[in-house]
Amino acid sequence: MSKPAEHRPPGKVWLVGAGPGAVDLLTVRAVRLLAEADVVLHDALIGDDVLSLAPQAKHIAVGKRCGKHSTAQRFINQKLIHAARTHARVVRLKGGDPMLFGRAQEEMDALAAAGIEYEVVPGITAASAASAQLRVSLTRRGIARSVALLTPRAGEGEHPSQALRANADTPTLALYMASHESMAIARKLMSYGRDPATPVALVENASHPASREAFTTLQGLSEQPIGALLGTAGTPEGPVLVMLGEVFREILQQHTLLWQDNSTSAA
Ligand code: SAH
Repeated sequence: MSKPAEHRPPGKVWLVGAGPGAVDLLTVRAVRLLAEADVVLHDALIGDDVLSLAPQAKHIAVGKRCGKHSTAQRFINQKLIHAARTHARVVRLKGGDPMLFGRAQEEMDALAAAGIEYEVVPGITAASAASAQLRVSLTRRGIARSVALLTPRAGEGEHPSQALRANADTPTLALYMASHESMAIARKLMSYGRDPATPVALVENASHPASREAFTTLQGLSEQPIGALLGTAGTPEGPVLVMLGEVFREILQQHTLLWQDNSTSAA
């Protein structure tokens, strides 16, 4: 008879970055761990092609879909601990890099408190995927020597505008979880002194075949919701990264010219 769960030594948890979506942007280590996992707890945004790398494992979806009601963090922590007490090898799969805007700290703290061993495997974050797709360096020499990854979402004890205000002058900004409040964010950045002519690049579903891109200025971002800018009827279907800075000047100009050409030839 197998020992009751509480008398068995707990298993080990790997917090693994799944990257931005394309299955071949996972690390070799992530692929190996998925193939060896007994159970995979994954965010709702993780695609079936990525999950199919762990056909032998039990798959458990644990919320975290942007804009949708997500499973409470405490409940996720409990599921993770339970999985580690009942399975030897647990993969907690998170979009992009697990250590960026992924509540990894809460999960690591809960695992440590429960005496469960864990390791972290980095992944390709959305800003890296979007910059690669656009072929724009976020730290182009002579234009931008720094880039800030930030979210307008406030953490506990923080003011919602704190990150924006502190980074209003950072040459390149990559804004995560910003698509719902994009107009207000643009207005705030301008009120903190950012030039309304600052180029803006939007990338929905970076690295996916169905990715969409749009280019505008900070002023333009303040005037239309993200869905309208991307050419969708309502809210976009996939996650959107909002990026801005002078590094996007050339790509904005190319798209403006293209748009002018198209509207002249259509006339
Ligand atoms: N840990 C993740 C970020 C989680 S926060 C990472 O490192 O990428 C979720 C936000 O990430 C989304 O609201 C969106 O702003 C951004 N995002 C994640 N995947 C994306 C993708 N494929 N394309 C564009 N933005 C993405």
